[in-house]
Amino acid sequence: MAFELPPLPFAKDALEPYMSAKTLEFHHDKHHAAYVKTANDLVKDTPFENKSLEDVILATAKDESKATLFNNTAQIWNHTFFWNCLKKGGGKPGGDIAKRIDSDLGGYEKFAEEFKKAATTQFGSGWAWLVLDKGKLKVVKTPNAGNPLAQGQVALLTVDVWEHAYYLDFQNRRPDFVTTFIDHLINWDYVQRNLEAKHALAH
Ligand code: ZN
Repeated sequence: MAFELPPLPFAKDALEPYMSAKTLEFHHDKHHAAYVKTANDLVKDTPFENKSLEDVILATAKDESKATLFNNTAQIWNHTFFWNCLKKGGGKPGGDIAKRIDSDLGGYEKFAEEFKKAATTQFGSGWAWLVLDKGKLKVVKTPNAGNPLAQGQVALLTVDVWEHAYYLDFQNRRPDFVTTFIDHLINWDYVQRNLEAKHALAH
């Protein structure tokens, strides 16, 4: 069973003017697609060939000799997750996720500040995340293809801060991209669903 490039969960122009169709065309159709192709080439005729994406990520995360396979499979997972985190939305959430942000992170303003800091201070390529870590919300960042699954954390939200995520729309202005993401592009319904799925698993 080969890894697949899932279609974007929205039309390419659905996030205009905050994220352009051009960015999504390159980011999904070229970058994400390239990780899928490379990962499939790497697992062909190996014991990883019929494993799930998650199993390959967990099996290779701490094995330096499998770094290329980890990088490509984690990037498939991270990008698929990232697309689902996007919609024309953003701003302050409601519901349970808002209550958890209040109790675990000290409120929405604090969350926004901490998330922006993680995303802008990640040196070079990487990702900023909102995760559940031992049952508590936490903001973390990972370099390159790094992924919270490998750290035993549950991903709730992510933003891609590789240059390919924002260069066409924002050039070098990563902070503007991150602020736009927080204010206009977070799909809080998806974040809420991830939180609920985790609770369902725990009971
Ligand atoms: Zn990317």
